[in-house]
Amino acid sequence: MTTEQAVPRGRRSLRPLSSAFAKHFATGTVSETGMVTPAMRRIRITAPAAAGWRYTPGQHVRIQINDPLSLYGLLRPAETLRTYTVVAHCPDEQAFELWAHLYDGTDGIGLSWARNARVNDPVTFWGPQGDLAVRSAPYHLFVGEETASCAFVPLISAVPPSEPVYAVVESDSPRDEVPLPDAHRVCRVHRAGAPAASSPLLPAAVAALDLPATPGVAYVAGEARTCQAVRDHLVRERGWPRSAVTVKPFWTPGKRGLHH
Ligand SMILES: Cc1cc2nc3c(=O)[nH]c(=O)nc-3n(C[C@H](O)[C@H](O)[C@H](O)COP(=O)(O)OP(=O)(O)OC[C@H]3O[C@@H](n4cnc5c(N)ncnc54)[C@H](O)[C@@H]3O)c2cc1C
Repeated sequence: MTTEQAVPRGRRSLRPLSSAFAKHFATGTVSETGMVTPAMRRIRITAPAAAGWRYTPGQHVRIQINDPLSLYGLLRPAETLRTYTVVAHCPDEQAFELWAHLYDGTDGIGLSWARNARVNDPVTFWGPQGDLAVRSAPYHLFVGEETASCAFVPLISAVPPSEPVYAVVESDSPRDEVPLPDAHRVCRVHRAGAPAASSPLLPAAVAALDLPATPGVAYVAGEARTCQAVRDHLVRERGWPRSAVTVKPFWTPGKRGLHH
């Protein structure tokens, strides 16, 4: 099936625009799905382009749910692409894997895609892209909820074994804890049904953390306001330089496709 056939009627590409951007997107097929936790679905995509990627751990792809170059996409750009971190890249198998959080929502196009993706579904994606990557540091601190944890898996795997890793990660319940590679110290906190947006749990857990006296590098991702609160704690209360805190907002209430 071609990409155009996969686009719903009335959402067909504007051909000249599409060919001008052709080098930026690629096609593949869903080759495997499964559950990582009761609320985290893994979706493996096989795509010839993945064999030749220039990729660094922490980068993401943008799944094309509606064509941004169609008339529909030009009129509703926030309803076209959704961003997912590449959790695993397997160039020899021409494949990559995404983990998508099935949050408690109703109408997000990303949520709907993640819930309904089936083996053999065609997929168009943009990337890999993005500048989230492991930095050189005496130690590394990862802070975020479920969506952020998807990015922490490849990032923690890329930390040199001699450099300590601390992680403070939130999930709704112990059953929803996203598995992370071995880290020096992982602190888990649980919302127990409370909203993930502006969650007070993560800043409080970071404040309680016994960290070395001198700053390391922090990677703070996930819901935007929680990210801000964690950064404020590290900068204002712990005296870390702003440059030592990498913040990547992934979503925030009321904003559709934060990254479009
Ligand atoms: C660089 C980057 C990497 C990302 N990597 C991943 C990843 O690997 N796995 C992953 O699951 N997500 C990841 N995300 C987040 C994901 O792209 C968003 O959750 C996405 O917007 C969901 O799309 P949607 O269409 O379902 O909801 P949207 O249309 O974007 O939003 C609809 C409503 O749902 C709310 N909402 C959106 N996401 C969530 C959520 N997770 N929890 C609670 N409420 C939410 C919004 O605030 C909004 O009010 C990443 C985002 C970025 C920017």
